[in-house]
Amino acid sequence: MATINRNYLKLPGSYLFSMIAKKVNEYSEMNPGADIIRLGIGDVTKPLIPAVTKALHNAVDEMGNAETFRGYAPDLGYEFLRNAISDNDYKSRGCDISPDEIFVSDGAKSDCSNIQEIFGLDNTIAVCDPVYPVYVDSNVMAGRTGDYDEALQRFKGVIYMPCTAGNGFVPEIPDEVPDLIYLCFPNNPTGAVMKKDQLREWVDFARKNGSIILYDAAYEAFISESDVPHSIYECEGARECAIEFKSFSKTAGFTGLRLGYTVIPKDLKAGTERLWPLWERRHGTKYNGAPYIVQRAGEAIYSDEGRAQVRGQIAGYLENAAIISEGLMSAGYEVYGGANAPYIWMKTKDGMTSWEFFDYLLKEKQIVGTPGSGFGPAGEGYFRLTAFGTKENSIRAIDRLKGDS
Ligand code: PLP
Repeated sequence: MATINRNYLKLPGSYLFSMIAKKVNEYSEMNPGADIIRLGIGDVTKPLIPAVTKALHNAVDEMGNAETFRGYAPDLGYEFLRNAISDNDYKSRGCDISPDEIFVSDGAKSDCSNIQEIFGLDNTIAVCDPVYPVYVDSNVMAGRTGDYDEALQRFKGVIYMPCTAGNGFVPEIPDEVPDLIYLCFPNNPTGAVMKKDQLREWVDFARKNGSIILYDAAYEAFISESDVPHSIYECEGARECAIEFKSFSKTAGFTGLRLGYTVIPKDLKAGTERLWPLWERRHGTKYNGAPYIVQRAGEAIYSDEGRAQVRGQIAGYLENAAIISEGLMSAGYEVYGGANAPYIWMKTKDGMTSWEFFDYLLKEKQIVGTPGSGFGPAGEGYFRLTAFGTKENSIRAIDRLKGDS
């Protein structure tokens, strides 16, 4: 008789964004014609830049031509894209990352989730709280955690590192030494960043203790302050203790196209074992690379034209973030994030729980956001708004919140 992986049953039933969709659908059915402004889900809204659509068209033509047709892509990804990534995202910033240390994939979500497969089930994991839920969920499914504790809203066996207003939403190094440390900066959902000297402390800690940092830099392109590192490899010694994830999703609107990459330095080890050959082997059997046409589209963001267009698009989102955060502040709210990330993290009104505030905003203001508690227990009492809407909607949302708190 077939049996299931019972670790899946440890996950609480309803996924955050399904719950939001359900509530919004119910409200829309009861209030047809309600003018709802959606600042909730972290999906982009601006179309692909012209440099990318041009590259896509060209690549489609190549695929329809016998001389230039391509079949299966190489496991690590095409060299043209890995060279462009190595030159532009690493070498130009003084980071020694070579093209053969870059594994191109169909996005950071799969990689952040799958990376734990190359580590033993006896590893302890540490995560920022609140944070993008995929790190914890994938470890739960793998069986690396205990059961979910309803009262504490935490999985047993996970080291949660609270990120609060008190520590600027940057975690303190834990007393207990974790084996795997997930760090996500700029952070989803708080929009907080780690300065270079702060990140260096984590690198030193990991090297000293033989831990591996799993560094999610999906929002790197939104960094606007000069003392914030774009990559963990800007810190000396990170090649000995860190894996990095990057995504084209928010950088260049690839949420629907799917493209990302993971960096594993060739000499990086867990104990005495090198990790690069393990991830390479994983790709040999569980390939999650991207199609040729998408890799050509990715290459296009590094051309002069592509870079200028990406900068313009990100500047537009950051302008929305500034409109929303300044508007909320003048309405009297406590507001964080938004300067180096597309996320604005706010304290709820009058001590409401995150879900109470969700209902309040939906019913009274017709604004949809994301309850902070959905990202971890320390997110309770907070709320996330995203800058991915239009400028017009960002302004209209703030108008509705004037004099609110
Ligand atoms: N990492 C973080 C922190 C994210 O917030 C997201 C998406 O929202 C991802 C990774 C997933 O990126 P991708 O679209 O490349 O799978």
